[in-house]
Amino acid sequence: MSQPDTTYTPSQPDVEEGIEYWSTQPASYDGVLGGFGSGLMPELSTVPSAIRPLKTPPAHTRRTRALDVGAGVGRVTSDVLLHLVSDVVLVEPVEGFVNEAWKRGASSAEGILVEDSSHARWKGIQDKTKSVTVLQGTLQALDPLHPLADPTTKLLGRLGYEPAEEDLESGFDVIWCQWCLGHLSNVDLVAFFKRCRQGLRDPDNSIIVVKENLCHNAADGGPETVFDPSDSSLTRSDLAWKKAFTRAGLTLVHEQVQRGFPVGLYEVRM
Ligand code: SAH
Repeated sequence: MSQPDTTYTPSQPDVEEGIEYWSTQPASYDGVLGGFGSGLMPELSTVPSAIRPLKTPPAHTRRTRALDVGAGVGRVTSDVLLHLVSDVVLVEPVEGFVNEAWKRGASSAEGILVEDSSHARWKGIQDKTKSVTVLQGTLQALDPLHPLADPTTKLLGRLGYEPAEEDLESGFDVIWCQWCLGHLSNVDLVAFFKRCRQGLRDPDNSIIVVKENLCHNAADGGPETVFDPSDSSLTRSDLAWKKAFTRAGLTLVHEQVQRGFPVGLYEVRM
């Protein structure tokens, strides 16, 4: 009889294992924030940037577009992106989360949402001035320029504003990646960033926002990547992130540490 191999631990994220983990979490702000959704951080959602347009006044009159990846129940879409842009495309692989995001958006469209701290009415949806398109799919499969090209990505629908012409393949002014890029291996991360770069509408003004937990750099001062078997994800250090940005041909234009978290958690950087 062969011995079961108990010493083997995968050191790279596994898509299915990641999705399995998140499927066990409640479809709520608390769920996507690992239990830190309520009480601790209300001040974090009231940063002034969340209610300011990207540029005042815009030099153009065209609608602005954002992509929210690994979007969970649509927290970033609801509380940040719809305050900044006209149209949002939300992508999330976990059935319970993406259905909850759709439900929240649809309730906003019908005006039946009870507002509390974690159920804000999605701005511009009921009056159809803004839109949210909801897709179910993974980062690994997603090409921002052709969001539905991969057969595993599914369109749930579109809420709010309806364009005269289909705009799903017109690229993005902002691609927002928050607390989900750990589900990509280093190779997949660089490939994803490269596809994101291609999916930016204006190379001089469009941005990719990465907001993630950071571990410390290695003892020798080099990049560090730590595998977490509980959700099959990687936590990267500052230099590991910067290495990935460079490899993907991206330019770091701004970085900031998120303040206001309790001590003992990973540092969070944008
Ligand atoms: N960005 C959201 C959710 C963070 S929780 C927010 O800040 O509120 C992490 C999210 O990553 C979960 O919704 C989880 O389902 C998603 N995720 C896990 N594996 C993924 C993958 N392979 N591709 C895209 N998203 C993934």
